[in-house]
Amino acid sequence: MLLKIVLGFLCGLRALAKENTTAQQSAPPLLLVSFDGFRADYLQRFPMPNLKLLYSQGVLVEQLTNVFITKTFPNHYSLVTGLYAESHGILASSMYDPISKKHFHTYNDTDPMWWSQAQPLWITALDLGYKTAAMMWPGSDVTIRNKTATHFFPYDSKVTFQQRLGNVTKWMVGNEKEPGVKFAALYWEEPDHTGHKFGPDNTTAMGKALKEVDDNIGLLISELKRTGLWGHVNVLITSDHGMAQCSAERLIRLDDCLHPDNYTLVDLTPVAALIPNKDPDKVFELLSKCHNHMTAYLKKDIPDRLHYRNNERIQPIILIADEGWTIVQRGNKLPRLGDHGYDNSLPSMHPFLAAMGPSFRQGYRTSSLQSVDIYPLMCHLLSVRPQPNNGTLNHARCLLADETCWDVPLVIGLVVGVLLVLSTITVLFRLLSYRHSLGSRPFQRLQIDDDDDTLLE
Ligand SMILES: [Zn+2]
Repeated sequence: MLLKIVLGFLCGLRALAKENTTAQQSAPPLLLVSFDGFRADYLQRFPMPNLKLLYSQGVLVEQLTNVFITKTFPNHYSLVTGLYAESHGILASSMYDPISKKHFHTYNDTDPMWWSQAQPLWITALDLGYKTAAMMWPGSDVTIRNKTATHFFPYDSKVTFQQRLGNVTKWMVGNEKEPGVKFAALYWEEPDHTGHKFGPDNTTAMGKALKEVDDNIGLLISELKRTGLWGHVNVLITSDHGMAQCSAERLIRLDDCLHPDNYTLVDLTPVAALIPNKDPDKVFELLSKCHNHMTAYLKKDIPDRLHYRNNERIQPIILIADEGWTIVQRGNKLPRLGDHGYDNSLPSMHPFLAAMGPSFRQGYRTSSLQSVDIYPLMCHLLSVRPQPNNGTLNHARCLLADETCWDVPLVIGLVVGVLLVLSTITVLFRLLSYRHSLGSRPFQRLQIDDDDDTLLE
């Protein structure tokens, strides 16, 4: 009997493992594309015919709430890990680690220790036996936990979008010797570059940059069609953050508030990170009164909603500039006409998500999603068990073709509506009953009177 139970259990396990393997083998390949600095409202402000064609056959999330700080490296790492910056450890473009005493900058980023607090999807999928590729995605040329994606290129701005795309589709198709990759991530640096240089309000410059981005999406569609991948792969097009218009009229000068000898600067704008050199209370007091458009926080008081406190790489004091304000140490020079990094609750900092492919609904549109929810969605699409993360698949279920989707506001509306109707019916019924009982009372009285009379008799 015991042997039967054990055998039954083992058969069950084998069937489950086979089912998982089949699900993994049958999962369509996934291509994740990021166009750096694509602010959500560019979709309304500029034509983008190819992008619109793509999501008209799939889904569109109009705004993604990304992670603080709204910079390139933290957000690209959040997209492929589903973690807030405090959990994955890539907290800014410039960092200082007080334990190793090392410095990080985006042009000096290949030390694995910065990236190893998390595991990106191209490694998790690799561990399952998939081939993966990551084309110039931040962190993709770093050996993380002793691994890289099967295919990757070190970052080189001179490599065109077409060249990057050509390699990615070649890797996705595979050849006789090697199967195609199941997960590929592709990075392109526009419209971020133009947004910084001219500012998002410069319609002429942004229109030109976004026309090029849309032409690249056109190239992507035709390349997927040429290679036979179109309709057989799931494609996600998204971005890391938006862009705010800056101005020389909106400068915050730290030297106006305290002498630079008082602190060591790790990062400057629009979120400054400082280590006080002496008398931290006094340094904080001076900084907190420094400017109406800048908020100073001691590390322990950084608001919970920013998820930006629990990491040793977050410095003792951070300063957050208001939207469109720039922190400088001194002078009148504005470093960039457009910038990002501000509070992630600002719509100007939000990117979007468009997706299409065999797993997605067609012609579906929703207003918002958290960018950390994209990671569990991608794991679901690939049948990969996700690493611990801050996202929720349930939030993204409505995007999928084969999922039952509850539109929460609609359900709440329906429940409230039904309750209102029921309450109205109950009140009306009681009112009618009351009136009816009022009408019958004289008869009851008569009856009592009759009884009384009888008693008197
Ligand atoms: Zn960026």
